[in-house]
Amino acid sequence: MNNTGKMHDPKNILEVSDLVQTFTQPYGILDRLTGRPKKTVHAVNGVSFSVRRGEVFSLVGESGCGKSTTARTIVRLLEPKSGTLLFDGQDITKFTPAEMMPVRKKMQMIFQDPYASLNPRQRIREIVMEPMLFHREAADREEAHVKMLRLLDIVGFRPEQADRYPHQFSGGQRQRIGIARALATNPTFLAADEPVSALDVSIQAQVLNLMMDLRDEFNLSYLFIAHDLSVVRHVTERLGIMYLGFIVEQGERDRIFEKPLHPYTQALLAVAPTLDRKIAAVPLSGDVPSPIHLPVGCPFASRCPQKMSICETNRPKLRILDGRAVACHLY
Ligand code: SF4
Repeated sequence: MNNTGKMHDPKNILEVSDLVQTFTQPYGILDRLTGRPKKTVHAVNGVSFSVRRGEVFSLVGESGCGKSTTARTIVRLLEPKSGTLLFDGQDITKFTPAEMMPVRKKMQMIFQDPYASLNPRQRIREIVMEPMLFHREAADREEAHVKMLRLLDIVGFRPEQADRYPHQFSGGQRQRIGIARALATNPTFLAADEPVSALDVSIQAQVLNLMMDLRDEFNLSYLFIAHDLSVVRHVTERLGIMYLGFIVEQGERDRIFEKPLHPYTQALLAVAPTLDRKIAAVPLSGDVPSPIHLPVGCPFASRCPQKMSICETNRPKLRILDGRAVACHLY
C-alpha cells in the first residue's frame, strides 16, 4: 500500500496511471476584445505505464506526440492535470515543492540539449558539485570535490578538465557532463529526454553505452524518450508508442519489434534506419490532428492506411493482444 492506500507493485520504481496534461494557449488583448474562446492544448491524454526497477522503459513517437511533456510531468517540472504518479511506492502527484525535495534527489532528468541545460558561466566542477551540496549528498565542499572528481572520471574526464566551461567541450562531452550532474544526487531513476538526438551518430553509441554501464553501476532505472526506434531498440526492455498524446501500443521490446500490430508502430519501424528485419514500408499521408481539437475516433485515423468507418467515430482502447497492449479496431 502507498500513501493513498492504492496497491503498489514493489517491482516498479514508477507507476503512471491515467496521466493527463493540458495547456491553455496564450490569450492576448486582441483575443479578449474579439471574444475568442480560450483554447486548450491536450498534450497528454490518459497515459498509463510502469517502469520496473533496473529497467529501461522508452516512450517513442514523432515530435509533438507528448512524450517529452509526459516525462516533464512525471518529474514534476510540470503539474499534472489529473492522473496518479507513484514513485517508489509514494503518491507524488500532488506533492508540494517542499515535499518534492527528497524525491528530486532520487529522480533526475537528462535533457536533449546539453548546452542549453548547462550554465555557461559555471565551471564543470561547480555544475556537478552544486546539486550535490544543495541536496546534502556531500557534507562539505571538500567531500563534494572528491565525489565530483570520481563522477567526472566515471563519465570519462580527467581531473584538470573540471576547471573548464561548457563551451570548451563537444556536444557528446557536454551530454556526459549532464549525466554526471544528474548522478550527483545519487538518484535511482533518470528520465532521459532525447539524450542522444542532438549528437552525431558516431557519438550516440558512446553516450548510450555509458548510460547502460551506469545503470549497472548505480542500479538505475530509466525512462527513455526518443523519436527514433532504432536508438531505443538497443537500450530498452519495454516501450510505449505515443501518438497525439495517447499510447497506441505498449509492451516488451522483442514482441513489438518482431511483430508490430498498430499501423503507426508499423510505419515508425518501416522508416527506422538500422533495422535488419523486413517490414513493408507503410506510407503515411494526411496531417496529424490538432491537439486542440482531438478527434472523437482513433487519433491516428487521418493518416492510417487501414482506416475503417468505425475508426472515425469510436476511439479504440488499449487491449491486451499477443503479449502487448494495442489500441486499434483492427484487433
Ligand atoms: Fe487505423 Fe482504425 Fe486502427 Fe486507428 S483504429 S490505427 S484508424 S485501423
